[in-house]
Amino acid sequence: MGWDFETDQEFQKELDWIENFVREEIEPLDFIVKNPFDLTDPIRQEIIPPLQRQVQERGLWACHLGPELGGLGYGQVKLALMNEILGRARSASTIFGCQAPDTGNSEILAHYGTEQQKEKFLEPLLRNEIVSCYSMTEPQGGADPKVFTANAVQDGDEWVINGDKWFSSHARFASFLIVMVVTEPDNPAYQQQSMFLVPTDTPGVEILRNVGLSYESESEDTGTHAYIRYNDVRVPKENMLGPRGGAFIVAQTRLGGGRIHHAMRTSGRVQRIFDMMCERAISRTTQGELLSKKQMVQEMIADSWIEMEMFRLLVLRTAWRIDRYNDYKLVRRDISAVKAAMPGVYRNIASRALQIHGSLGVSWEMPFGKELLESFHMGLADGPTEVHKVQVARRVLDEYVPCDDIFPSTHLPKRRAAAEAKYADVLERHLQTQ
Ligand SMILES: Cc1cc2nc3c(=O)[nH]c(=O)nc-3n(C[C@H](O)[C@H](O)[C@H](O)COP(=O)(O)OP(=O)(O)OC[C@H]3O[C@@H](n4cnc5c(N)ncnc54)[C@H](O)[C@@H]3O)c2cc1C
Repeated sequence: MGWDFETDQEFQKELDWIENFVREEIEPLDFIVKNPFDLTDPIRQEIIPPLQRQVQERGLWACHLGPELGGLGYGQVKLALMNEILGRARSASTIFGCQAPDTGNSEILAHYGTEQQKEKFLEPLLRNEIVSCYSMTEPQGGADPKVFTANAVQDGDEWVINGDKWFSSHARFASFLIVMVVTEPDNPAYQQQSMFLVPTDTPGVEILRNVGLSYESESEDTGTHAYIRYNDVRVPKENMLGPRGGAFIVAQTRLGGGRIHHAMRTSGRVQRIFDMMCERAISRTTQGELLSKKQMVQEMIADSWIEMEMFRLLVLRTAWRIDRYNDYKLVRRDISAVKAAMPGVYRNIASRALQIHGSLGVSWEMPFGKELLESFHMGLADGPTEVHKVQVARRVLDEYVPCDDIFPSTHLPKRRAAAEAKYADVLERHLQTQ
């Protein structure tokens, strides 16, 4: 095991450029661009593509991709350092060509897509000429995909898709949907479903409503998580993505990278909230002294810093392990641990920052209410925290062997007896001389 906490000088220059570019050019867009996924918004279209070109010219476009897809093949550690800066602004990942869910969708297209599928769907997606949607969760259950009922039936050269999907993010802006449906109902549970590429304008794709998050405005129709009904949606058989009955394996390919990249961005977001908390603590006075002089405020700052740094190190070590082993299966425990830790750290720090800001903190003039809700988003999307904790526990326990005795192998009387046996001659000699 090697440890290295330094960033190489050349890459540090890139990070400095990214930091400055995000602060100066991208952070202001949080107030100007309504939704970076809406390619029909003329303001977005005027501002974002020129910034994307600057990123491309700098050679920092879509750094998560391997060279075969036009990326630099940066490892995860570099991506982590980059993404924590991008996490500070809403449009940043779009401007750097690494926005979820398009990243995950492009990963599975690159991995499982046919040449035709890549040409039609992947290439324009990588250039951000179109955006995509991943349509998996159903109204009756998300955490357990075995209960999904949306299905597709083969009819000649076509598949006919029927059923409902819930919380399909960005469907309203997407050119195509990647839909997971039951195609082999008689197979074992994990081999029943397949993935399909469905152009959004295919007849029968009906968005019942676009659901928003509770901090968004219902009256302004800002919801972006679609409740979709697929009514006899016909796609050619060439639109199946990956093997028949192989949707679970395809989905796993997508989620490993997505989860760690969310964590990297969350790390940056948390640092930003922490900065706000510290600035307030050393600026606001009560009872004749700064908030930062109050020990309970100091405790909040200390706890937040400790949690933030522990989380950041866990993210970076996980990134390092992904680079080292180059096999998501070997780092699933670590990725699940990062995923499970993320919402708690985010929520704790956002709550303390809100509290330290008092009434201003709960108001719409500060972002903490939104950040708090976003912390729940991180605990739900890509699998709830509980499910990831179960994964961590399972994989950790796999490394242990049971003790077949009624008392544990570390029972002190046993250890004492073993130690005394090991040093019996020494003990005997000393006892004789006493
Ligand atoms: C902002 C956001 C964006 C999303 N975008 C997409 C998207 O683009 N495409 C898509 O398909 N889905 C998307 N989702 C849906 C997401 O994948 C689901 O919310 C998630 O899988 C949980 O499913 P559910 O919401 O139906 O909750 P349920 O399955 O009803 O679970 C509810 C709660 O039960 C508990 N629970 C569940 N399983 C267990 C368990 N095994 N042990 C203990 N407790 C458990 C957890 O507390 C969980 O939060 C998004 C969700 C959010 C919040």
